[in-house]
Formats: sequence, C-alpha cells, structure tokens
Amino acid sequence: MGYETRCLIGGELVEGVGEPIEVENPATEEIVATVGSASSQQLDLTVEKATGAKAGWASVPAVDRAPLLHGIATALREKTSELALLMTTEIGRPLSESADEVEWCAACFDYYAEVARSEIGRVIPPIEASQFSVVVKEPHGVVGCIVPWNFPLLLLVWKLAPALAAGNTIVAKPSELTPLSTLAIGEVFSELPAGTVNLLAGGGEVGAGISGHPGIDCVAFTGSVPTGQKVGVAAASRNARVNLEMGGKDPFIVCDDIGAEGLEVAARGGAWAAYLNAGQVCTSSERFYVMESVFDDYVNAFVEHTRSLVIGDPLESATDLGPMVSAIQRGKAVGQVEDAVASGAELLTGGGNAGFEKGHYLEPCVLTGVKPEADLLREETFGPVAPIVPVKDLDEAIALANGLDFGLGANIYTRDLKRAIRCVKEVRSGSVWINDPLTDNDAGPFGGFKNSGIGRELGTEGLDAFREAKHAHIDTEIEVKEWWYPYG
Ligand code: NAD
Repeated sequence: MGYETRCLIGGELVEGVGEPIEVENPATEEIVATVGSASSQQLDLTVEKATGAKAGWASVPAVDRAPLLHGIATALREKTSELALLMTTEIGRPLSESADEVEWCAACFDYYAEVARSEIGRVIPPIEASQFSVVVKEPHGVVGCIVPWNFPLLLLVWKLAPALAAGNTIVAKPSELTPLSTLAIGEVFSELPAGTVNLLAGGGEVGAGISGHPGIDCVAFTGSVPTGQKVGVAAASRNARVNLEMGGKDPFIVCDDIGAEGLEVAARGGAWAAYLNAGQVCTSSERFYVMESVFDDYVNAFVEHTRSLVIGDPLESATDLGPMVSAIQRGKAVGQVEDAVASGAELLTGGGNAGFEKGHYLEPCVLTGVKPEADLLREETFGPVAPIVPVKDLDEAIALANGLDFGLGANIYTRDLKRAIRCVKEVRSGSVWINDPLTDNDAGPFGGFKNSGIGRELGTEGLDAFREAKHAHIDTEIEVKEWWYPYG
C-alpha cells in the first residue's frame, strides 16, 4: 500500500523538510513509512496561507458552507476502507473499530453542516424601545489543531468540523505516531478554497510552534495533561483562544440493584469500556467500584469474559484486541500493574504478550486488592487494565469517583432512578453514562472537569468554542440620553 507522506500547505502537497518521522506498525514493529516534519519556515508559510484564506472563508454564507461540509462527509465515507486500514496500521486496533471511526468523522461533518446554518447568534431584549440588540458570533480566524494518536481522525474532526462550520481556517497537526491517516485526508478538502485546511506532520516542536505562533488565533488541543498545560501557557501568554481536552482516570460504578443478568451485562460493558482500543481511550474505564454484596460475582463474570476475548492480528475480523500503540505505552501500563502486584494486589488474568514475539501485545488484565495509593488507581494507565475495588455503598463510590484531580467521564450501572440521578448530579465529570458506557453523541458536549480539560467539544458548545461573541447595540433614534452630562 502506498502512503501519502506530504503535508498539505495552501492547497499544495509538499514534502516536510524538518525532522523525519518513522512510522511503526505496532502489530509487526516494522517501519512502514518515513514522513518529513514541517520545518519552522514551512509552519510560517502555512500560517500565512491560512491567514490569507480566512477572510474569504469567513464570508462564505453558512448555507453555502453546509453542502461543502456534507461533501467532506461523503468523501470521507468513500475512503472508509483506505482510512481504516491506515489507522489500524498506525495504531494496531481492530479494523472494525477503525472503520467505525471514519463513519463517526463523517457524521460529525454532517452534524455541524446543519447546526452551523441554523444560527450565528441571538436577538436580545434592548434597553430602550427605539433599540435593537443582537449577539453576533464570528469565527476566531486561524485555528491550530493539535491531536493525539489514539483516535487520530476523530479527535481532529471534532475540531475541524465545528471550526470550519464557524468560518475559521485550519492549521492541523497529528501525533508523530499517526501522521499517515491525517495526511491521507488532504483530498477530501479539495472543494474548499486553497489554504482553508492545512495539514502538517511533526512532533512536539511543530505543536509548540503552532501553540506559540502569533498568527494562530485559537489553539484546540487534545492530549496529555502535561502537554496541555504547556499549550495553555503558550496560548495564554499571547491571549490566544484555547480549548484543552486532556487525560482522564474514569470510574465505573456497579450497584447491587441490577440483578444477576444486569451484573453479567455490566461485566461485559465494563470489559469493553476498559479494553476498547487496547484501553487507549481518554474515557477508558480505569477504576471499578463495585458494591460489596455483588463484588465476587462481578469479578468472576469480568474475568471469565476477559479470558474469552481474542487478542491478535488487528486485520483479522475475529480479533477483539490488537496490540498497544508502542513499546513505551505498553511499558507504562505493565509498570503500573507490576507496582500494584508488588504492593499486594492480585492479578487475576492477563499481563502476558499473548504468545506474540513481535508487536506490543498486552493481554487484558484484571486486578483486585490494589492499594488505594497505587498509581493504578490514581494516574492514567492508558492500557487494557481493570482494577476492581469493593465499596460498601453509593456514598463511598461517589467519594472515590470524585477523589482524583481528573473529571472526564464516569459510568454507573444501576436500575435505581434515585441512584442514577444522584450520580448525574454529584459526580464531577464532563460525561456521566448510566447503563451505556462511553457512548458519545455529536449533539452533546464532550470534555473534562478539573485537570481533564478546559472547554468543550461537540454540540453547540463545541461550535461556540470556535466563535467569538460580539454584542451589537443599535439605536434607531439619534438623541441625547438623560444619563449623560451634565449630572447637576
Ligand atoms: P501528548 O500530550 O503526548 O501529545 C498530544 C499532541 O501534542 C501530539 O500531537 C504531540 O506531538 C503534541 N505535542 C507534544 N509536545 C507538545 C508541545 N510542547 N506543544 C504543543 N504540542 C505538543 O498525548 P498523546 O500521548 O499523543 O495522547 C494520549 C493522551 O491524550 C492521554 O493522556 C489521553 O487521555 C489524552 N486524550 C484526551 C482526550 C480528551 O478528549 N480529553 C482524547 C484522547 C486522548
């Protein structure tokens, strides 16, 4: 398979002349392509192109932008097999999960094509009868998008689609681990004016170049907490607008009111929430709090289901879990498991390489008896690991759920309406999923409380992230106001 290794700058495909990036297939450990990063001169040129395009794109009426955005959705769907294969090659996740991601990207473009043409502000009650007051929402200008590797296209599209729909132009950078799928989508923007969408390969230096660039009006970032903080500081130092989506350590609470069948479902749902994309989802469930009276049954069902999962070649349709993305990520997850076991935790299943000599495979792990102070219960793992902890009641579960500085998502299984509503009200996280883990909705906001983020993506909130509000106050009379001078 041929790979697009060129950046998209001002409508032209250009080789990056900065540091070369080697792209590894995590299932085979082979280097499948080498991509040139954008140099700092190329970044400057890209910002110049995006700046040159911004007035033109901002002036396109939303009703005319809508068919262009729907066209991008169609073009993405037409490339589903190619893009799915590219993402699986870069990340190692099962092909069906990669194909789902392409569809979610297309759906997000379709959503914002329509949402953005329904309003660009609101009419507000004026101060006097002769007046007319409106709030007008305008694009920021050039939006810099910096994204991680775990959902390379989706997390880009959650920025691209609303930012474009709002009339901004784009300078985007994928992770250095996953440039190929992003560079492959350049052609889907071919109907947009040149310079409206620009795609650059590069690592942290290109990311830092974007977040500190005086020509970038807004920075939208998804990634780890430490990098997000650097991006936030760089943007704040020049008063650029900023949206940060960062790490998590999501809790998964299981109540004792769901019956034997419900417990079985919650075990399967929990395993999926912990292991999807080899546990490398920002909203992966990483801490399970299960009420004491159903703890043993839940753990047994969880372990049994985990052992039934197929770990293997991500290109095989029967595969449930492929490898992790890199040796570094695998090492981090294994390190947390080993530390927990060294402090007395019991590893009930998993932890091996599933018999693969090559590839960053990690058999999904279930642990009990993990000490509360262990990193495994406090710091992001980003791997297929499920530590399960007994709790005596919902008070304790909610206190533990809220006990960390993260607040991205939270899952609860219960049939008790009072308990469900308590969790919605009391759990401090951007998403609370009751009885259906990890389901996103383009129409609902996504983001984090506390260290997990600042701002929201998706929904109308995600459109507003890329718009500046302006208050326009019009008086139809020209007259002296009684509150002017003189006061006496
Ligand atoms: P990362 O922070 O290492 O990198 C993210 C991006 O930032 C990459 O493109 C990287 O090249 C770039 N970058 C690195 N240094 C930079 C700098 N100094 N300035 C600007 N950009 C820089 O994260 P990662 O390992 O790629 O992704 C995993 C992390 O992302 C996890 O912590 C996960 O929780 C988080 N994540 C969050 C969400 C969310 O929506 N909240 C979604 C997915 C992933």
